[in-house]
Amino acid sequence: MGWNPTPGNPSLLKELNQFLILDALRRYGSLSRSDLARITGLTPPTVGVIVKGLLEEGYLVEQASLPGSGVGRRPVPLALNPQAGIAVGVNVSPTKVLILAVNLLGQIQARRSFAIAAGASAEDVLEQVIGNVREMLAELRPRRVFGVGVGLHGPVDHQRGLLRFAPHLGWRNVPVADLLGAALPGPVVVDNGVRCMAQGELWFGAARGIENLVCVAVGTGIGAAIVLDGRLYRGADGIAGEIGHVTVDVEGPRCDCGNYGCLETLASGPAIARQAARRLKQGVPSLLVDWGLDPDSLAAADVARAALAGDELSRQVFAEAGMYLGIAIANLAKTLNPSRILIGGGVAQAGDLLLEPLRRTLAQRTEGLLPGEVPVEPIQLGADAGAIGAACLVLERFFRGDTVPQILDFIER
Ligand SMILES: [Zn+2]
Repeated sequence: MGWNPTPGNPSLLKELNQFLILDALRRYGSLSRSDLARITGLTPPTVGVIVKGLLEEGYLVEQASLPGSGVGRRPVPLALNPQAGIAVGVNVSPTKVLILAVNLLGQIQARRSFAIAAGASAEDVLEQVIGNVREMLAELRPRRVFGVGVGLHGPVDHQRGLLRFAPHLGWRNVPVADLLGAALPGPVVVDNGVRCMAQGELWFGAARGIENLVCVAVGTGIGAAIVLDGRLYRGADGIAGEIGHVTVDVEGPRCDCGNYGCLETLASGPAIARQAARRLKQGVPSLLVDWGLDPDSLAAADVARAALAGDELSRQVFAEAGMYLGIAIANLAKTLNPSRILIGGGVAQAGDLLLEPLRRTLAQRTEGLLPGEVPVEPIQLGADAGAIGAACLVLERFFRGDTVPQILDFIER
């Protein structure tokens, strides 16, 4: 009996059982059939039938059996087959595109990146993505393609594969899944980049085994991804997690969104640079002045560098940004009760400069309500998290039996 879910075949139970087995192997790496039965709660005969199908299709491999101590059949460890195929993960940030080819184990098999030219249209950038992915696949010659996952900045309609708005690129209503799907193999899955980051951390990074999680990306903008009971929560319109536009100071500066005192106006990279510039112009002494930097062209990275060198003005700016993040995250923690907070994005590279005041504020504002401090940790996958996670979204759809990978024959072999 082969494993080949066909559309319209109501084999939901079988799909669920396959998911349990594939997901257990992802989490544990290598398991015998009896381990799988114990962990998934499936009967040994059910495990046997599903494993046989997955082995025949090449999704699993049997590893060399461990030396047994007694007589009888030794358990044969099973694992996901790293040669089974490739999922492509694409991350489109405001300034560049990263493309990774990832196998079933989350291992990166190839990488490409390019800068987004100022004023480039979405169509131009997606054409470049298509060219790069096709070249990458032609070089790798994978057995099959599980699909292409795309993380985008700004609100995304995940169901329709549509980018609603990319604030820093000025793109609106781009049918990304349709445009890429017409030219690339396998299903195309589109989501917000922070959600992709969270999915990557959940499967292969700092959030492995965690069911309830908030992942916050602090960069040019600020966004959050919410994971509830092990799955991404998107909300009714797909905009859940727009933490950059929650109010943290009712008297605060006006935001691009029209409101006042949004988190993004007080803790994003541009906000950090702006706060430092404002103090410099007030004549506050600083290393930034000693270094001859122009207040009007400061970057958050300059402020971080000065803070690390002991500059008081810069440390103060990061302490404030961390405090505002702590206020917003405390509100989220009290609303959602996550067991961990992960912080990623460019500004998060400042590390404890940002995380210490954040943790302090979070602890102060949740004390007495939550039983303990919610751990706040940096992400593990770094700048690759979004693209790896976009690939994981594709793999998850395959694991759940929602999509069928495409055997590559359109590319010359
Ligand atoms: Zn706003």
